[in-house]
Order: sequence, then structure tokens, then C-alpha cells
Amino acid sequence: MELYVAESAGFCMGVRRAIEIAEGVARKEGRTVYTHGPLIHNPQALADLRGKGIVPLEEDDPVPRAPVIVRAHGVPPGAMNRLERAAERVVDATCPKVSTIQNRIAEFSDRGVAVVIAGDADHPEVVGLLGHARGPAFVVGSADEVDGLPAGLGPVVLVSQTTQDEAVFETIRDRVLARFPGAETLSTICRSTHRRQEETRALARRVDAMVVIGGRNSANTCRLAEICRGMGTPAYHVETAAELPLAELRRLERVGVTAGASTPAWIIRDVVAALSGTAAD
Ligand code: SF4
Repeated sequence: MELYVAESAGFCMGVRRAIEIAEGVARKEGRTVYTHGPLIHNPQALADLRGKGIVPLEEDDPVPRAPVIVRAHGVPPGAMNRLERAAERVVDATCPKVSTIQNRIAEFSDRGVAVVIAGDADHPEVVGLLGHARGPAFVVGSADEVDGLPAGLGPVVLVSQTTQDEAVFETIRDRVLARFPGAETLSTICRSTHRRQEETRALARRVDAMVVIGGRNSANTCRLAEICRGMGTPAYHVETAAELPLAELRRLERVGVTAGASTPAWIIRDVVAALSGTAAD
């Protein structure tokens, strides 16, 4: 079997940076530190972080008197204020690319522009982005949802979740422009996502099946699998090497491997070793 591994597979800059910040705080403090929600959407990496004294706070958990780290997705200003009041100190590890979009949303709404965000309404990054609007703001997950936006919004700007599928963003952009001629549209999909999706598409075109590695709760990983399936290429979404249907995959001639932005390098290495038959027993 020929194996092709995407160069862009694995941690993006924002996730790597947030993990390094959290590990640095835990090392310096020498005690348990907390993250506002899981630092990344990957159960195996979270278990590893827990072992280093980095513990995620769930939605309803009381905020402890300890350092709390804000993850790469960012938070709405109200949540940041609450954390600052309750925690011993807050370390902001919001990805700089997400902060830029948050700031632009605030600027647009200060100028009376209605903000439309193309993304998943429940995703923490989108919740954070929405919270930075200081006027009318909406989230749409598909072009059809654009039809449900209120009429008479005045000036409109469209932005996107950083990990939005580019093809979906384009259909949303076309519908926004049809409904609100003159709307400003900004694809704020980050370059790392762009590169990962492009490389996944290119690989999916030339292989018999794709293995997509990452947490099942990782939206950007799920999106990679959807991109492959949308192109008619079977995609096996696995969290670890143990989940690989090896007998099935080894019957194929060409297999591609990609991974989401929150998949650690060691899991990718394990999967590649298992697929190529070089894994230690
Ligand atoms: S996907 Fe892009 S914007 Fe999101 S955390 Fe990673 S680098 Fe930042």
C-alpha cells in the first residue's frame, strides 16, 4: 500500500501556542492550573495535559482561585470579565488570528454594521466572536440560513469562523450578496485551515481512501472527513491507531492521511506506523 501523509497534518500555530502557554504556566506555578473549557478537542492530548497538572473547567464548574487559561478559541468579553473577577489570574491564550477577527467585529458593529458570521453557532470560537459584536449579529451555518436573516439590516459584513469549509463559505457569501447587495464579505478562514483543507482535497483526489485523525468532537477534523466524503473518497475518521480497520485499508493501493488542528504529532506517528506495518507490537 502506498501511503501519503499531508504535511499540514496536526497542530496549527494557535493550538501549539495555547498548549505551550498552558505548559509554561503549569511549570512555573508548580500546582494545578485550569483552562476555560478543554484546551483542545482531543481526548488523548487532554489526558496528557491532565498529567502535567492542566485541568479543563467544564461549563458549570465554579472558577477556582488559581490561574485560569483562556484557550485558542477565545471567549466573549462578558466571560472574560467573569473569569477575571473569580480567578486568581487569567492567562489569555486566544489565538492572535481569532483576536483579530474579534476586534474587527467590534469595530464593524461600532460603525453600525450588522455582523453575519458563517460558522457553527455552538462552537466556542463562534460564541466568542458573536460576543464581540456591539450591535446586531447573527450566525449562519449554511446558505439557506441566510434567507432567515431579518430584512432591513442596513450595512452588513460577513466574516467566517477560522475553520470554516471554504466551499461552504463561498455558497454563504453568494447568498449574502444576493440578499444584501453591497455587503462587505471577508473570508477570515485562517491560512493554516486553508492549507490543511487544500492539501486534504489534493490527497483525496489521488487515493482510494483517506484516514482522518483527530477527536470526534473536533469540528475541524470532522470537516476534513466531510470534505473527503463530499469528493466521493471514503474517509475513516479515527482518534487513535487502535481504531484503524487495518485489514480493510491494507487491501487498498493508495491511502492518504491527514489530521485536524488539535491532533498531537505522536498520534499521527502511531497511525502512520500502524498503516505502514512498522509499529512496534
Ligand atoms: S485554526 Fe487558525 S485561527 Fe484557529 S487556532 Fe489554529 S491558527 Fe488560530
